[in-house]
Amino acid sequence: SSSLEQQTSCDDTGAAIVSSNRVVLSEAIHLQQHLHEPHGGIVPTLALESHAAQLPGVVRAALQQANLAATDLDAIAVTRGPGIHACLSVGMNAAKTLAAALNKPLIGVNHMVVEGHALMARMTTTKEGEAAFPFLCLLVSGGHTLLLVVHDVNHYTQLGTTLDDAVGEAYDKVARLLGIAWLPGRGGGAGAALEQLARTGDASRFSLPIPMRHASRAASMDFSFAGLKTAVARMVPALAEQEDDRWRADMAAAFEHTVIAHLTDKLRRAFRWTQQHSIPITSLVVSGGVASNEAIRAELGRLAGEHHVPLVCPPAKLCTDNGIMIAWAGMERLQRGFIDDYSIDIRTRWPLEALYQEWEKHIA
Ligand code: ATP
Ligand code: FE
Repeated sequence: SSSLEQQTSCDDTGAAIVSSNRVVLSEAIHLQQHLHEPHGGIVPTLALESHAAQLPGVVRAALQQANLAATDLDAIAVTRGPGIHACLSVGMNAAKTLAAALNKPLIGVNHMVVEGHALMARMTTTKEGEAAFPFLCLLVSGGHTLLLVVHDVNHYTQLGTTLDDAVGEAYDKVARLLGIAWLPGRGGGAGAALEQLARTGDASRFSLPIPMRHASRAASMDFSFAGLKTAVARMVPALAEQEDDRWRADMAAAFEHTVIAHLTDKLRRAFRWTQQHSIPITSLVVSGGVASNEAIRAELGRLAGEHHVPLVCPPAKLCTDNGIMIAWAGMERLQRGFIDDYSIDIRTRWPLEALYQEWEKHIA
């Protein structure tokens, strides 16, 4: 069985077809980076115009690549939220119309955690048992930083979240403070550029505060990145006066080093929590755009090893937003009977609790 997806939550237009035995039959994507980079961030009206113009061609390309007719599909999955209202609408209206015309099930997918980014790891892993439920999941993206125990689709325990900025957001802001140009192409952007620069830097030159180490917050499994960004911002003006440009790479390295120390602190606590609650986690799953970072992967791989579970991350290019992850999440939902009405709405904000409530209703 195969399911087609459309992903238009924010800045790239994607469609993909996957089969229930984890084969990606096709993927088409239209990138918008070139539209947004001059503005230093996503411009909703430009994103909307581009989605509206590109989506039909992207869907057509996905079908052609897979050599399938629309009638061959078993279901149509679509990003329902969270995201930019106008952008989500383009995808939702297209998906509803397709599904209704073809008389196929429609599946609204949450772009995030227990669905999009996190389930992706279940599709891409090849080893038996890896990313099988339950698993410990760190979701690190442009808008989210979440630490969860995932028991099943939509069934999870949230251990921690960010109290302020998301990790990816911190990478983007610090890249801007350091005046780093975005890396072009798929998997590019500000975060990837910062990672590349950090590789050439000396992390020990600057000492940045590791967040949440104070006794009053150390026991929590929440994250905080705003203070770290502010610490960088305070140091930049004096450094920018220097002739020598090396400080940028050194600061990038110090920032990344501190981020990793913070993530590791909280993950150690999460591992301990699963032990205390006797939850037999199979893996540490790390996904979302920041999970494409090799330094982060290496360190978290070591940490997982210490706790005798594998680290499972999707391939780097599938960590950032893509159509395949929505198609796969649609497949996982389809297999569990989570099917939506053709009248469903989009959800620009979609709190995790709502997913959990849906799960409770479904099993009742
Ligand atoms: P969300 O999924 O929370 O709605 P999003 O879809 O914008 O947010 P993703 O596409 O999952 O986020 O990830 C993009 C984020 O990942 C950006 O903030 C980007 O800077 C960051 N990122 C991408 N590659 C790297 C990298 N190599 N190192 C660090 N951060 C990275
Ligand atoms: Fe995303």
